[in-house]
Amino acid sequence: MQDIVRLLPDSIANQIAAGEVVQRPASVVKELLENAVDAGAKNIQVIVRDAGRTLIQVTDDGKGMSETDARMSFERHATSKIRTADDLFRIKTMGFRGEALASIAAIAQVEMRTRRPTDEIGTLLRIEGSEIKSQESVACLPGTNLLIKNLFYNVPARRNFLKTNSVEMRHILDEFQRVALANPEIGFALYHNDTEVYNLYAGKLSRRIVDMFGKNYRENLISCQEDTSYVNVSGYVGKPDFARKTRGEQFFFVNERFVKHSYLHHAVLSAYEGTIADGSHPFYVLFIEIDPSHIDINIHPTKTEIKFDDERSVYALLMAAVRKAVSTNHLSSSIDFDANVNFLGPMSGQRSGILASGGTAPSNNFADNTASKREKSNTGHWEQLFDGFQKNTPHSTSQTQLDLEENPATNQPLTVSSRVNQVQANFPASENSPAVVQQLHNRYLLTQVKSGMMLIDQRAAYERVLYDRYLNELQHTPGSAQQLLFPATVQLSVADVALLLGIKDTILALGFDFDALGNDTLVVRSLPADLPHENPQQLFEELAEQLKLNLEEIKLGKTETTARLLARRFAGRYLTALAPPAMTHLIDQVFASSNPNNTPNGEPIFTILTLEKIASFFKS
Ligand code: ADP
Ligand code: MG
Repeated sequence: MQDIVRLLPDSIANQIAAGEVVQRPASVVKELLENAVDAGAKNIQVIVRDAGRTLIQVTDDGKGMSETDARMSFERHATSKIRTADDLFRIKTMGFRGEALASIAAIAQVEMRTRRPTDEIGTLLRIEGSEIKSQESVACLPGTNLLIKNLFYNVPARRNFLKTNSVEMRHILDEFQRVALANPEIGFALYHNDTEVYNLYAGKLSRRIVDMFGKNYRENLISCQEDTSYVNVSGYVGKPDFARKTRGEQFFFVNERFVKHSYLHHAVLSAYEGTIADGSHPFYVLFIEIDPSHIDINIHPTKTEIKFDDERSVYALLMAAVRKAVSTNHLSSSIDFDANVNFLGPMSGQRSGILASGGTAPSNNFADNTASKREKSNTGHWEQLFDGFQKNTPHSTSQTQLDLEENPATNQPLTVSSRVNQVQANFPASENSPAVVQQLHNRYLLTQVKSGMMLIDQRAAYERVLYDRYLNELQHTPGSAQQLLFPATVQLSVADVALLLGIKDTILALGFDFDALGNDTLVVRSLPADLPHENPQQLFEELAEQLKLNLEEIKLGKTETTARLLARRFAGRYLTALAPPAMTHLIDQVFASSNPNNTPNGEPIFTILTLEKIASFFKS
């Protein structure tokens, strides 16, 4: 009988290995950027087309390769970075497994031009699907230029697995940002389809952060530095009132390598305790320097996870460092403010406003301190926001309760057109007992149904109604747009602008109209006509944050995702006192909607307290 065990051909072994290293275009960008950094480049340029599907080109001015090394670099386990097993524990460079180039070449068409500064002439190498097509001498600049064309051209299954261009581009931006933040002393540029996305000059970390995320970061960074014999912490954290409602920019680097670490993330959050609202997310870019022998970085193929031999010490130190930074900022902030007229841009004013009106009371006197600063500034944004909040709360809480307890009937009884009861066959109301609707704390609607009492979550109800409407507008009939009298400009990070442009065509139907002005600004011409009064800056910031949160997670069509996130985003705007007819109307709309039971995100919209249940409250 014939032997059946065979060695896999190299090209197939490489394709399999490639699956581990190259999940998507962004993985290629990451590997090539790291190689360029390791090669000592001073400037690195990235060009991508079609979110990296058709082209990824990385050019560096680093040390280049000899003719032999150029060829060797595509062999699996070819690396110039490790010679002995011991080296593994000393490793400080980015790459070390010697797999990246071999993997990439297995699943793409690759062209590499490379020249060492000391050589007269460079090498051009062409590889397709692990097969060397040609190697020749070529005149080129010192450094390395890699072109990766048609990624996954020979692995259709993986190609089909890719997400939309805006999602893939988001991943590329993530990887690019991580490497660019870790190496501010290197100049980086990124182009997508001939448009410049980033052009970041070499400089200090603070400048890199501002260049990357936007000018509004300039006034909102606190420097953080703590050195001990075991570990050094350095970098920047955001001022507490710069924290966002959705998870934004948060970066840890261990020995200049980006890592995800929920335990350390927790350390940073703990350091902010009492200065930011629950559930809001501080900005941070933090570098941890530690002797490589104290860490294990090779526990995950894409190497974004890491283990420390003494995790608790790192936790304690990090928390102390951040806490010190945040509290030092607190002590010196009034001085800073007087010295710096720019301290309160419109953005920081709004953010604080949200916190203030959200009713969160920070436990230290940081809030008082910033509040007095706000009074001095004449931006007025937060006051407006706070005014709005109060206007929407005409009854004091206790007043509402009292009315309800004493005599609900005199408090403008309402008759629901009893659709509720028709639709919900379980609890039909009797013909001659019209339901009364009462609003509780501007948040809940309460009404009688046959089996007892129905409690409706107002926000959830609006989310369902808005979702149905948006979906309809996106798919069939465009909603009406409210032209702005004066087009508004909105300042965002470059990445957020790219993201929003990516969904522009989709949300046009809702009444949004905007264009890019430069790469970090949008000009907004119109907003959906039926939105409650909106500040475009805040609206677009939140839109971008919502997109970041949702687009990758929800594997639905673009239209549905957009309808979902907009409904979620805007439903909160309707947590206001409702006039009696509006309550009836809302309940009618919910029960005429595609699913009165749940929001598009699966949260319940109403609940029924049965008479039995209510009776049980009063039994001893
Ligand atoms: P690793 O980075 O893990 O060593 P790679 O497959 O990424 O493995 O690269 C293989 C080798 O090719 C590197 O060790 C390095 O010697 C060389 N190399 C790759 N990219 C560059 C570059 N941009 N400039 C100079 N040398 C490079
Ligand atoms: Mg590498």
